[in-house]
Amino acid sequence: MIHEIAPRKFNTAYMNQKAKSEDLFLSYLEDTVLVKEGMDKLWYPSFSDFAREYPELRDNAQYLFAVDDVNFYLVDEKGLDSVAGWSYVPATRLRANHWRSFAGAVGWQLNRWYNNHRFCSRCGKGMQHSTKERMLYCESCGFEVYPTIAPCVIVAVYDQDRLLLTKYKGRAYNRYALIAGFSEIGESLEQTVCREVQEEVGLKVRNLYYYKSQPWPFTDTILAGFFAELDGNDTIRLQEDELSLGVWMNREDIPPQVEKVSLTSEMIEVFRTGAVKI
Ligand SMILES: [Zn+2]
Repeated sequence: MIHEIAPRKFNTAYMNQKAKSEDLFLSYLEDTVLVKEGMDKLWYPSFSDFAREYPELRDNAQYLFAVDDVNFYLVDEKGLDSVAGWSYVPATRLRANHWRSFAGAVGWQLNRWYNNHRFCSRCGKGMQHSTKERMLYCESCGFEVYPTIAPCVIVAVYDQDRLLLTKYKGRAYNRYALIAGFSEIGESLEQTVCREVQEEVGLKVRNLYYYKSQPWPFTDTILAGFFAELDGNDTIRLQEDELSLGVWMNREDIPPQVEKVSLTSEMIEVFRTGAVKI
């Protein structure tokens, strides 16, 4: 999955440190990220790559995180693709199993957060960056904001050797999916599972088994994956404004999952191969 970058280690601890010339930086322009393309990989710039054209870039860079001993910073500077060899490419290309892709995706999430909290939502004054932690605060009224992470469940509903597969309506992503949805206010994850299954396919479930979680930076979510056994009637009543398909599929008919990035694909695959004991 996208966040599994071992043996490399993602270090999210906040550091109040000035960028050095060998540190890498991330620059986003709406839904694109600044890279150099080469040898089937996307390369991020270091400050030394831009030292001649943008000698001040390090001064206003915001520390993000590190992967092993590689530090990543965020810069908010326009026109960096004017430097030869560098260009902005769609950030959806970061949806890949590579430590660089994961770093770029998390940076994209943080860039959205910083951009969306330039001003205090309580009093309207400009927000300041904390030097102690990853937090923005308002000097005027004291309001504090932390990065947005929305909890979401993914549910693999099964009935003996059958798995419930769905397809979402009106999305570019057209592979088989599982039931998924955001937690609502006042709800436990288990209650979210039961409500989403009821809403999307009209079924009841029991024997919830928590499988794994996954940070999904593209939608600011933390995904919690559950297997849940069908309880009672198996007739699917599709929520047609969200789903275009909902079917029971026998284990041996489920197509092998070629995509290895998402928790959804891993859950379908471990059910297909019988690797999960439920
Ligand atoms: Zn304020």
